[in-house]
Amino acid sequence: MVSRIIPVEQFDLIIFGGTGDLARRKILPGLFKRFADGQVPEGSRIIGAARSEMDQAAFLTFAEEAVRDAEGDKIDATVLKDFLAILDYVAIDALGEEGWSALAEKMREGPVRAFYFSVGPSLFDDLARRLQQYDLVKPDTRIVVEKPFGHDLETARALNKVLSAHFDESQIYRIDHYLGKETVQNLMAVRFGNMLFEPLWNSQYIDHVQITVAETVGVGGRGGYYDKSGAMRDMVQNHLMQLLCLTAMEPPAKFDPDAVRDEKLKVIRALEPVEPHQIVRGQYDKTDSESNFRDDVENPSSKTESFVALKCHVGNWRWAGTPFYLRTGKRLEARDSEIIVVFKSTPHSIFGSDAGGGHNELRIQLQPDEGITLKVTIKEPGPGGMRLMDVPLDMSFAETLGEHADTPDAYERLIMDVIRGNQTLFMRDDEVEAAWAWTDPIIQGWEAVHDVPKPYDSYSQGPTDATLLMQRDGREWREIGA
Ligand code: NAD
Repeated sequence: MVSRIIPVEQFDLIIFGGTGDLARRKILPGLFKRFADGQVPEGSRIIGAARSEMDQAAFLTFAEEAVRDAEGDKIDATVLKDFLAILDYVAIDALGEEGWSALAEKMREGPVRAFYFSVGPSLFDDLARRLQQYDLVKPDTRIVVEKPFGHDLETARALNKVLSAHFDESQIYRIDHYLGKETVQNLMAVRFGNMLFEPLWNSQYIDHVQITVAETVGVGGRGGYYDKSGAMRDMVQNHLMQLLCLTAMEPPAKFDPDAVRDEKLKVIRALEPVEPHQIVRGQYDKTDSESNFRDDVENPSSKTESFVALKCHVGNWRWAGTPFYLRTGKRLEARDSEIIVVFKSTPHSIFGSDAGGGHNELRIQLQPDEGITLKVTIKEPGPGGMRLMDVPLDMSFAETLGEHADTPDAYERLIMDVIRGNQTLFMRDDEVEAAWAWTDPIIQGWEAVHDVPKPYDSYSQGPTDATLLMQRDGREWREIGA
């Protein structure tokens, strides 16, 4: 198989917040990998811009350590040296004039220009205004913004207003890194590139859909932020919603940004309100050696959820009667993210009701490994009569695609898409607002009744009520980590 690296144009990428955690863990290592693969054209530059008191040499050391941490021993010293040679740094204050003239002097005509706002959203307005004031924005300049995109509908609207006051929507790239995952795009390839699934992709044949994003980590050092956010805002409103959209959307007429995003928007707008009894909230408990959620967020009376499970319906012809179950949480048994499309059982078994089998499932796994599995029913081997069993037809990418399974990290792909000017995998303003419009009443409902999340054991499957949510409907979750 030939690896196909699609070249991008020469670019200048300016990372505001270039000395932050996200730059260190994701952006710089991601750029290095694209560079090492030969995808970064000669003459391109990456400019760190941050308030940190660093000079060029200190930033290069920071970037080198970031790449070494991510890549380990497999690093080629010459490639690393060449990569560091395209880095530059400018100390800048988003809230003052320091550094802006220096940045303006570094700008050149010609290459694609992209500004990555890897800073808190409170700085967006100042950054945007100064970019305009120093005439740094050209018609095809791209602006990349990170999550969280708002805290609720009102704040998301305010952020959109700030951005739209300075940039055209076609210039704005709102990152949801789940959309950059190989398997998520493969979901579109599987659905719309095969004849096999689409005729069955509706409530006549699909019993239900499960979407799980389970993490083993707790809130770590992000306690302050997380206590104000919670799993609903931090995960469901964006990542799980995006996975739901790609699973449920109608086939777009073409794979182009607005065609895809129009269809996703229709799904969000078709989501029916969720009744309180269809949601379970949880908070993780302590273990012998680790603290509980309330300790981690340093708030003994915190009512924020570290776990959510809910049942929702997409109210349209395709999905009427097929529930979507979403579940996400921290400190769960395993790091395990997947979409499972569970087909209905065969209407009648010619082999007898106790023959077994008949449970087709399409499982799209995102984490820890990426892959797609289709469970089909076959005869159990041996002389035991006509007994059936469900076996997986497995397309785990690592095995099937060999060396090419080393798929780019989501950030690598998304940053290259920014340079290409392709917005397909980025959220549009109306999409983000529609997602908040669905999420807000749920959160407001909890606040109104001072809802207290159910405690659950760390490293478990989550609160037992989440299991019951499914069992009440005669269904069950796939076990996390199974
Ligand atoms: P961080 O606190 O580690 O870094 C913030 C960066 O912003 C630093 O480089 C700092 O120098 C710079 N900065 C702060 N004030 C500034 C100012 N006035 N002028 C210029 N630069 C200034 O934050 P982070 O974890 O890198 O996160 C950045 C953004 O990305 C946040 O919005 C965060 O929510 C989002 N995000 C982070 C992660 C992650 O894993 N870290 C994941 C998803 C989204």
